[in-house]
Amino acid sequence: MKKGLLFSLGVTLFFSALALTSCGKNKNYDIISTSFAGYDFARAVAGDEMSSGMLLNPGEELHEYSPSIGDRESILNSKVFIYIGGESDKEWVEKQILPKIDKEKTKVISMMDVILNNNGSSYYEEEPLPDIASSSEDEEESEYDEHIWNSISNAKLIVNYIDLVLEEIDSSKKETYKTNSKNYIEKLDEVDNNIKGVLNEASKNLLVFADRFPLLYFVREYNLDYVAAFKGCDTSKDAAPTTIEALTNKVLDNDIKVIFVIELSEANVANPIKKNVNNQGKELEIRTFYTMHNVSEDDFKKGTTYIDFMNKNIESLRIALN
Ligand SMILES: [Zn+2]
Repeated sequence: MKKGLLFSLGVTLFFSALALTSCGKNKNYDIISTSFAGYDFARAVAGDEMSSGMLLNPGEELHEYSPSIGDRESILNSKVFIYIGGESDKEWVEKQILPKIDKEKTKVISMMDVILNNNGSSYYEEEPLPDIASSSEDEEESEYDEHIWNSISNAKLIVNYIDLVLEEIDSSKKETYKTNSKNYIEKLDEVDNNIKGVLNEASKNLLVFADRFPLLYFVREYNLDYVAAFKGCDTSKDAAPTTIEALTNKVLDNDIKVIFVIELSEANVANPIKKNVNNQGKELEIRTFYTMHNVSEDDFKKGTTYIDFMNKNIESLRIALN
């Protein structure tokens, strides 16, 4: 008996030492998501009843992520696994995870499927960028733009779906999940109203992105015009001189005061545009628009939510569109 206890203690110590050396990251959560949006929505619905985690490390590039052995185990051990179902994770999830998953133990949510299966909802194919001489990339097969979470109405559908799944697997806490999701959806409605308020008072309708553009759903929802240096899933950091010139002209011609980069950007495209515009004797501010592709370590630690990021975006929109 005593021996057994000591032995298991030894094992625990050994494992925690191992965990510490491998960055101390324990990714065993009830609900595990590949990326930030799923993680945040699940965290809101689950409240204190279930733990929610994210596979992507804060600051890591979503499109360069592939799961480690430990990550795959975390998925197979979870109660709910949430993935985007688009360019960044569909392929490895379908190849490496879905054939192995025990569907009785782990419920799988593809956020893309939630949107596609919802009649009357909107989804978009990746489309060429307006006004920018598109880079020499070959015509790829058209694909659904994966950044579905950046539409507030899509976010509401996903939150609602997570609620239904949690209610099903943990029916004793049904009322809690229902209340949590209702509260979160109310906050999303508030964000939506605030965005509409800003747009009603705006004197401009054009967003200039000196970066990639994972916001097709967002601009479509609010009828905004946009130009951008790269498409949504493009991981390029530097733009062709013609792109920088086209964006500079767009700024000057439309009297734009703010250009956007997305979170974690090095502003390699934005800085030369700003310089060009300043050389013409005009001011230009570079602001971050949070697209929740990923979050910084700092924001992750602080527990910054989707709602918080959208509220920051609203303030930036107010400045950029006036
Ligand atoms: Zn993307």
